Formats: sequence, structure tokens, C-alpha cells
Amino acid sequence: MAEFILSHEPAIRFGFFFGILVFMALWEVTAPRRPLNVSKRSRWFSNLGLVGIDTLVLRLLLPAAAVSTAVLATQRDWGLLNNLSLPGWLAILVAVLALDFTIYLQHAMFHFIPTLWRLHRVHHTDLDFDVTTGIRFHPIEIILSMGIKMAAVVLLGAPALAVVLFEILLNATSLFNHGNVRFPRNLDRIFRLFVVTPEMHRVHHSVLIKEFNSNFGFNLPWWDHLMGTYRDQPGAGHEGMTIGLAPYRDPKRLTLPWLLILPFMGRVAR
Ligand SMILES: [Zn+2]
Ligand SMILES: [Zn+2]
Repeated sequence: MAEFILSHEPAIRFGFFFGILVFMALWEVTAPRRPLNVSKRSRWFSNLGLVGIDTLVLRLLLPAAAVSTAVLATQRDWGLLNNLSLPGWLAILVAVLALDFTIYLQHAMFHFIPTLWRLHRVHHTDLDFDVTTGIRFHPIEIILSMGIKMAAVVLLGAPALAVVLFEILLNATSLFNHGNVRFPRNLDRIFRLFVVTPEMHRVHHSVLIKEFNSNFGFNLPWWDHLMGTYRDQPGAGHEGMTIGLAPYRDPKRLTLPWLLILPFMGRVAR
């Protein structure tokens, strides 16, 4: 099973990505949570264009990526878990939890360090919040976050299988928790105990600073509770809240070419 997953990694990852994207898109059409502000066609073109460029740039610059780093770390006995004799399942569990906490810390860092915020604000300039917002990241942010992930994999000595499972999980939850989908409140309460839901992550896309500087988790909701960054609901309610960033409200200046140069433009405005 582990061998099969590792040898078919790209196909499995693409299958999950595409399957969940289609599933969420259909859910959004049948039960939307908020009416959209901007034409879906132009936003989807920008967001899908960005994920295409991100994939291409990653394959060109860092073709080895996190999984190969994990294989190398295991061969050379690098990192904590490669020097402990934990049962395989426990090493995978510890690695997935630690990688998720790393992504939480990285996300908070991209908010609070001004140069990094220049890159990450591309994610926040989406004037709507839907499944494709979950893949809207500037290529330089993607490269930096892959570098951070590779460093974490080496320090941890994360098993290769844990890295593949974590990347599939993170990709799946990112598509899920950006869904513009109606989610019954009682169900949301239960889901929120284990996973970041769209109702929880939408707060993070509010135009208000205190709201977008909360709910940094992408996968597990526990880190926000532990670190004191959890915010239950947006002040203006899910339908009344404004999505995006205050200085970037013109859709004509948020097309794909603009998004690519956005980090290099102007001062670090919030
Ligand atoms: Zn953010
Ligand atoms: Zn987001």
C-alpha cells in the first residue's frame, strides 16, 4: 500500500485535487453560502492560472520536493523520527501533526512579517471566497513554503508516506475550507472540533485586520485554540462581512498579471 502510494504520488495527488475541486464546485452551485461579487469566470481564470504557474515553477525549481527530501532523510538517518524507534503508524501520526503545526506557524509568519505579507496578500485580495481561493497563492510564496516544508521534513525525519499523506490532506482541506457552501450550523459545530471548516476559515478572509489576523489553521483547528488566535464568527455575520483587503477593491487590477506583480507594488498596505 505504502509502496503503491509513493510510486503513484503525482497521479494520486492530482486525482484528489481534481475530484475535490469538482465536488466543491458542484456543492457551491447547488447550495451557495453568499452571492458572489465578481464574475466567476475572471476570478477562476486568475486563481486556476496561478495554480498552473505555481505547479510549473515548483517542478522547474524544486523538482525533488518534500517527498524526495523525506526519502533522503530516511536513507541518511537525518532528523528526530529517524533516530527514535517509534512504530511506523506513530511516526506518521507525529509527523503529520508536526507538519500541520509548522504550516500554522508559517501562515502566521506570512501575516506578521511585512515582506512576507506582500506575497501572502495575493491570497487575501480575492473579492469572493470560494473553492478556487484555496489555490490562490503567489508562486514565490509557494516556493518559500516548499523550502520551509523541506526543512521541517529534514528536522523531523518525517517518513515519506507521512509527507505524501500530509500534502494530500492539506490540499483537500484547503479546497474544502474555502468553499462558498451552505453548512448547517449544528454540523459546523461538530466538524469544527476536528477540521477547519469553511465557516471558520471565512473569518480569516474578512477585510477587518483583527479578523484576518485570526484562524490561521488550514487543516486542524486546534493550533488556533492553543495559540489564542481562534475567532468563532465574523462580527458582521457571514453574509454581511466584506471579503478581501481594503486597499484592493478594483477587480480590473486583480487580474492574473496584476496578481503576479502585486507583491512588488506600493507600500505594505493592509
Ligand atoms: Zn492568511
Ligand atoms: Zn484562505
